[in-house]
Amino acid sequence: MNKMILLGAPGAGKGTQAEAISDKLGIPQISTGNMLREAVKNGTELGLKAKEAMDSGALVSDDIVIGILKDRIAEPDAANGFILDGFPRTVAQAEALDTMGVAIDVVMEIAVPDERICARMSGRRVCESCGASYHIEYKPTTVEGICDKCGGKTVQRVDDTPETVLSRLAVYQEKTAPLKDYYAKTGKLVTVEGQEEVADTTKLVFKALGVQD
Ligand code: AMP
Repeated sequence: MNKMILLGAPGAGKGTQAEAISDKLGIPQISTGNMLREAVKNGTELGLKAKEAMDSGALVSDDIVIGILKDRIAEPDAANGFILDGFPRTVAQAEALDTMGVAIDVVMEIAVPDERICARMSGRRVCESCGASYHIEYKPTTVEGICDKCGGKTVQRVDDTPETVLSRLAVYQEKTAPLKDYYAKTGKLVTVEGQEEVADTTKLVFKALGVQD
């Protein structure tokens, strides 16, 4: 059960649940969104290529994302498994994983109705240093604006504005939602309903994975 994919609309809580699973099972959370944001922050060539798509809520090209994912899962800490958070996001990316010979054990969808997503997004915060996820209401930091994990500054993402959230949801429905069928066919798909409270969703996630709470 150590190679997992988390599927779900932007704001469904993938990052938060990936962190909980990572802490519990001791396997890394691999977030292509966090890696891309880091590259943008550092002004690397990759960051420059990705920035425009990210700011507008579009997807970064499959070639770029598949490349960074491939390098990341080859690192030693991923040898015993990992949680993919935000990858794959297109059928082409899922096929690339298959081609790489990565045998996924479980694909967990966190389902949250669209109408609840927009309200949740305005309270979302992310640590600009380590990428940890927070929410001012549902998962606040102990000290306002400061990451509990690394002491970095928590900020609102530039792509969390209401207009960009709507285009990201449309992109999700068009490009990423078909992955539910893709993985349902392999018998690997499990769906958990995202709850209002983070801890309630985590309980359902652990139960679905057969992990002790
Ligand atoms: P996230 O933090 O997962 O919401 O990702 C933030 C942004 O990074 C997305 O809106 C995309 O522009 C880009 N991104 C992250 N992961 C991928 C991916 N697997 N494929 C294409 N673009 C991605």
